Formats: sequence, C-alpha cells, structure tokens
Amino acid sequence: MDRKVLLELANKYDSPLYVYDTEKIKSQYERITNAFSKVKNVKINYATKALSNVNILKVFNNLNSGLDTVSIQEVKLGLLAGFDPQDIIYTPNGVSLKEIEDVAKLGVKINIDNLSILELFGQKHPHIPVCVRINPHIMAGGNSKISVGHIDSKFGISVHQVPHIKRVVENTGMHINGVHMHTGSDILDIETFLRASEILFDVAKQFKDIEFLDFGSGFKVPYKKGDISTNIEDLGKQLTKKFNNFCKEYGRDLTLMFEPGKFLVSEAGYFLATVNVIKQTTSTVFAGIDSGLNHLIRPMFYDSYHHITNISNPKGKERFYSVVGYICETDTFGTNRRIEEIRDEDILCFENAGAYCFSMASNYNSRFRPAEVMIHEGKDFLIRKRETFEDIIRNQEVVI
Ligand SMILES: *Cc1c(COP(=O)(O)O)cnc(C)c1O
Repeated sequence: MDRKVLLELANKYDSPLYVYDTEKIKSQYERITNAFSKVKNVKINYATKALSNVNILKVFNNLNSGLDTVSIQEVKLGLLAGFDPQDIIYTPNGVSLKEIEDVAKLGVKINIDNLSILELFGQKHPHIPVCVRINPHIMAGGNSKISVGHIDSKFGISVHQVPHIKRVVENTGMHINGVHMHTGSDILDIETFLRASEILFDVAKQFKDIEFLDFGSGFKVPYKKGDISTNIEDLGKQLTKKFNNFCKEYGRDLTLMFEPGKFLVSEAGYFLATVNVIKQTTSTVFAGIDSGLNHLIRPMFYDSYHHITNISNPKGKERFYSVVGYICETDTFGTNRRIEEIRDEDILCFENAGAYCFSMASNYNSRFRPAEVMIHEGKDFLIRKRETFEDIIRNQEVVI
C-alpha cells in the first residue's frame, strides 16, 4: 500500500486510524480458492473474529465466502451483512446450550465441541444435524498461546472419544453432517496439516451422513522479513489429492472447508498513529504515540511483531527507537526498531494490522476506540466512526 495514500488518509480522518485494503483481501481469498480449484466443492468460511466490521463481512459475502463465527453476536453480524444462514458455521467453545439453540433457530450450521452438550442437543433436537469439532492432538508449531490442538487444550472433542460420539448418535438418533478440526494459529509445515487431515478422514468414515470436512485454519502469513508463511499452493496440491481420494472412498462429493482469519485480512490492514512525544532516556529513545494496548494489543498479548515505519518521513535517516503507547501500563509495540527518524507529530504505520487488532480493541483508560476506513474499488470509506465521550458513558447509570 502506498505510504502517501496512507498519510493522506491519516490527515483526512485523523489518527489513530485503521485502514483496510479490500484488494488485498480479495487476492488472498483467491490464492486459497485457486490452490483448491481441483476440488469440486470448496467453501472458505472467513473467521469473523479476526476483523468483524459489517463492511468487511460484506466484502467476503461478495466473494462468495462463508463465515466462521464463535458467538451469536457474530452470527447476527453475518446475517446483517447478507449471508445465507447456511453459509455461516457457528463454532463456539464453552457457551451455553441455550445460545447454541438460539443460533440453531437462525438456520446456521452448528459445530459442537464437547460431549455433554452434544448429548443434550441431540436429545432435544435430533432432527437438527450438527458438525463435531475433533481435537486430533496434533501440536501445531509456534506460539503455545495460539495452539489449540494439543492434548490439554480446552478445544474440541478428543479423537479418542469418537466411540463415545457414536454412542450419543445412536442413542439420540441425531445426525453428524460434518467433522471439524482447528489445530491453532501457526501451521509451520504442511506435513503436520496432512497428518491431522488423515485423522479427520478416519473420524468421518465412522459416520454415514457427512456432507463436509472442515480443516479449520492455521495458515500463517509473514509479519517480518524471513518469516515462514504457509505454502498454500503446495498444501492445495497435496490435500486435494488426499481429499478427492477420500470422497471416492466415502462414496460422495463432500465439501472441503477452511476457516482462515489471519491469512485473509492480516496483510490488508494498516494502523496509523501520531507521535505525541519523543523521550531520550539513558538507555533508549522512546517514541510515544496516541495509542496503546487499548487499540493494538497483539505485541503485548502474544509478543507479536508488527513492522513499523514512519510514513511522515519516508526518506529520513534510520535510527533506533522503542515505540510505546500512552496507556498506564507497559505497552510496548516494539523495542530497538530501526525506523526513519521520528519527529513530533509524525505518523507511524503498523503493518499486518487487519487481523485481531481492531477486533481486540477496548476502552481501557476510558479512551476512544479508533475509526476504521476501508479502501474499496479505488475509493476510501469511513466504515466506523471514531468513538466519543457519549460512547464511554452510554450504558452507565449515575445512581448516587
Ligand atoms: C480463530 C479461529 C480461526 C481463525 O484462525 P486464524 O489463525 O486467524 O486463521 C478459525 N477457526 C476457529 C474455530 C477459530 O477459533
């Protein structure tokens, strides 16, 4: 994305500001569909929680994507964006039976990730088919905070409990229409993914009404130079072969599903913030911006790296900085970063700010959440207004 365009947007809409480029979303989406073009039925269900602005959801609807959702509120956002309920899958963890029933009433695909709820749901609604989330106990590489397929993970029904699932199905007369896995956010090598897929095939074979196999996500995108990213084209080649063979064996053309979040939107997003203060200390030079962990928490929460550039001074001599926020916590975005010389009021740009950035923003320190702008078909649109003091006090009742 052109730095000059970003700078103009920061001037036009003020900072802090999130900017999303829908062209990049489209090209990432097409990379996946192209990689799996030899599978008859493929459905990409964008993981709403990565970036849930209704306009972004509409972009996905226009691409013919489905949605992966984890709360009834995300389901309702999807319906508001115009999705057909059958193109939405609901994959909650630890929610009440009541919420699952309310979502089922909306006609959305249901994915259940624990045995007791499966049994209760099957007893009450044997006519509503459900998908089951399996934990294949395969450890995806990388950060343990975002790996959810390992043995002590709270997600999914253990693959060792499949006999129990079968008993529940027999006893209730319910139907299993899909098998799902999501091993975590960092699939570093395709081998791991393929090994997990074999487990999914083995489980699917044991049920007779399967319509789809959902391979979750785990696609990695580069955040900095030298990062490994998922070789989706290679994965496509290898998994297509296995999947098509499995369909033959099963005797039906199943739908292959994925539910990427980060892969589709991370690189489409930019976060722009203004430098409030430059502070030389005995150890470093701090650049303090008009933002903090309230707007972009990933560096503090996951130790994630977001590349930072100074778009106000792109030709400036590079110097070393620690970029920090204005929150009364240690909210460090990056230490010892080489950035073009920073002056007061310069605009810094954070890359890979599409996924899990705005959607994790809060009002901590009673600050406003940023505005969001979408660049779509050559035009920029304000898709979320900056908050105001009214938003901070909206639901508060002054009682004394
Ligand atoms: C978060 C989540 C995803 C998306 O993960 P990414 O790493 O953003 O691709 C997919 N499926 C489920 C069930 C999730 O919870």
